[in-house]
Amino acid sequence: MAESTLDLTLDGPALTAWLVDFPSVSGEEKELADAIESALRTLPHLTVDRHGNNVVARTNLGRAERVVLAGHIDTVPIADNVPSRLDEDGLLWGCGSSDMKSGVAVQLRIAATVREPNRDLTFVFYDNEEVAADLNGLGHIAAAHPDWLTADFAVLLEGSNGEVEGGCQGTLRVFLRMEGERAHSARSWMGSNAIHAAAPVLERLAAYEPRKPVIDGLEYHEGLNAVRIEGGVANNVIPDACTVVVNYRYAPDLSAEQAIAHVHEVFADCGVAEFIVDDHSGAAMPGLSHPAAKAFMDAVGGTAEPKFGWTDVARFGGLGVPAVNYGPGDPILAHKRNEHVKVERITHCEDRLRSWLTT
Ligand SMILES: [Zn+2]
Repeated sequence: MAESTLDLTLDGPALTAWLVDFPSVSGEEKELADAIESALRTLPHLTVDRHGNNVVARTNLGRAERVVLAGHIDTVPIADNVPSRLDEDGLLWGCGSSDMKSGVAVQLRIAATVREPNRDLTFVFYDNEEVAADLNGLGHIAAAHPDWLTADFAVLLEGSNGEVEGGCQGTLRVFLRMEGERAHSARSWMGSNAIHAAAPVLERLAAYEPRKPVIDGLEYHEGLNAVRIEGGVANNVIPDACTVVVNYRYAPDLSAEQAIAHVHEVFADCGVAEFIVDDHSGAAMPGLSHPAAKAFMDAVGGTAEPKFGWTDVARFGGLGVPAVNYGPGDPILAHKRNEHVKVERITHCEDRLRSWLTT
């Protein structure tokens, strides 16, 4: 266990090493949240709030814009990869080095050193990102204190290899239930086959042309697919029920309601007896046309990529705050025993964010 007092004068790589050496597996973040809260409370330019093991710190300078820098403080279970180790090639090894204690270190560095930012800043450190969605600390803050997350733009410092990933696609799962009538298969004409009734649905899916809308300059790529099918009673029975489970991954120009309406529309004349929404996580706009985001892109350089998978960026989307993912970690190394991060990337990410927030 590392020294329990967090020293905000450490540089980004040293701070990352300190964080890796301070275990905070999901569900066991309290001590790290305590250390972060105490350290931030020594900074007179920040107001600090806490909800559970989630810490939110804010400047209140009355600037025209407010931006959020957010990161989760938990990690997946340690795999013999703590304490950290810095090798001669400038790689820092250890659990959470990429996902995402290097990003948290950058947040802490900015919180400690950028005392007169050109935009008001909100720092969010949250727990339980690596476990079930209903435990997610960012979700808990959004539900209990949505005002703490009010902002014009948010940057989630999840590992993205120093590239900007904008917005994220929504994901909707719908059960399409087909009905029939049971009969002995020797006299099938006495019944009606619910599996056969799914044929129009499958034809519609096979022929479906997904949209590739361009939003804020990023090309998204939707998908509407059957991911599971259930039907059948016994080998000599004409089945009276069949369910096709459909997953719709949709671009952030659609609202949650519009996505559901689209699925209804696609299968409108396919004889579906019942539509059941099983699971739904909305999309998030990249918001790159917002002035704060434009300035961010100018400062960090490179070109943004769309995010196809669902991430916590979408929780900001749900609050109406456009968000991107930008962090020093390497997402490919997340959750791996050989997890590591390039220390020069930590410093680079910090420098870019500082330049965005001070010039
Ligand atoms: Zn992560």
